[in-house]
Amino acid sequence: MTELGIMTPVPLPEWLNPEPWLNLKIKAADIERAIGAEAPGERELAALLSPAAAEFLEPMARRAQAITRRHFGRTIQLYTPLYLSNFCNGGCLYCGIAGDRRAKRAVLDEAQLRHEMEAIKSMHLEELVLLTGERMPEADIPYLRDSVAIAAEYIHNVNIEVFPMSEGEYRELADAGCTGITLYQETYDQGVYEKMHRWGDKRDFFSRLDAPDRALRGGMRTVGIGALLGLADPRFDMLCVYRHAKYLLKHFWKAGVSISFPRIQPQLGGFTPDHPVDEKMLAQYIFAMRICLPDVPLVLSTREPQRVRDGMAGLGVSKMSVASKTTVGGYSDDSEESTEQFSISDERNIPEFCAMLREKGLEPVFKNWDATYREPAHYSINTLITSRTRQ
Ligand code: SF4
Repeated sequence: MTELGIMTPVPLPEWLNPEPWLNLKIKAADIERAIGAEAPGERELAALLSPAAAEFLEPMARRAQAITRRHFGRTIQLYTPLYLSNFCNGGCLYCGIAGDRRAKRAVLDEAQLRHEMEAIKSMHLEELVLLTGERMPEADIPYLRDSVAIAAEYIHNVNIEVFPMSEGEYRELADAGCTGITLYQETYDQGVYEKMHRWGDKRDFFSRLDAPDRALRGGMRTVGIGALLGLADPRFDMLCVYRHAKYLLKHFWKAGVSISFPRIQPQLGGFTPDHPVDEKMLAQYIFAMRICLPDVPLVLSTREPQRVRDGMAGLGVSKMSVASKTTVGGYSDDSEESTEQFSISDERNIPEFCAMLREKGLEPVFKNWDATYREPAHYSINTLITSRTRQ
């Protein structure tokens, strides 16, 4: 920390740093080789992410689709998010419910949560992600633990997308019936990260980076990672997401690791990204990641417009949210629009979305896991060292 209170960035740990792959000179032949590679690695990923690969979208799409079929068949796993609370004192520049936004604040009480769960259950969905903002008195661990336990009475697969916590806290939630976490690093570029997160606990880059490890050590079965596309150089962030996923798969080989591709969407506050990612770039990154991580579930949410979701389903993407509400209490009350974190783009209901999938020859999957197996995982790992040094 400097005298002016500015944090001095710590270099990324070697296992994460993508520098060696950022400045390769990529030729057309490198991209063609990467598309057909039997066991593509970082060199191939760098080629497929390069601006030059934008000319190869069709062969990349064909390869990504073939790999997706081989590993996931024609299935698309469905899930839906549920906002428990939008109380947050975080200072994220890009967020519609940051502490300094005049958003209407709300938190679900038990009766409201049960009401929401009944609405979700009636849609036959069996995978749920519970969301909050940063750690707040209104939605801290005891509240989350109780909410997970209630949601688990209705739904087989309950996950959380909340704030980073300690291993012991993750264990408490796993004991209550939580299966997994989603936690995006937002950006792996520490300079941008510092600029975007103006105050609060989220300024601790490395605590967030280590959170998926802590979650898996704490008994979670799955972790979802990703970068918020638009904040920093997307090639840098995509290479880091890949390296982060490889690290987690190496150290927790029995755990499930998935990758999401959130892009900045319109939100209260009107933040505009410095590195906008258009639809073609998004498609290129999804294809590149599918080719280089053949069996990792790739997730696309209702942040994306209908045409993008329809185009990507089965072409790399194997898991999608559906019928999402980004307001607190949104499933049983459509009127509370001012509590939303960001605008959703695909507002189709479940029958409409499933009809689209079936027209494309894809099969929506509502349930792929059973609560019978709901007990905390025990991964044997031999590394308990911090992200700054681990290999
Ligand atoms: S992104 Fe999350 S932590 Fe940041 S302000 Fe929004 S809700 Fe709070």
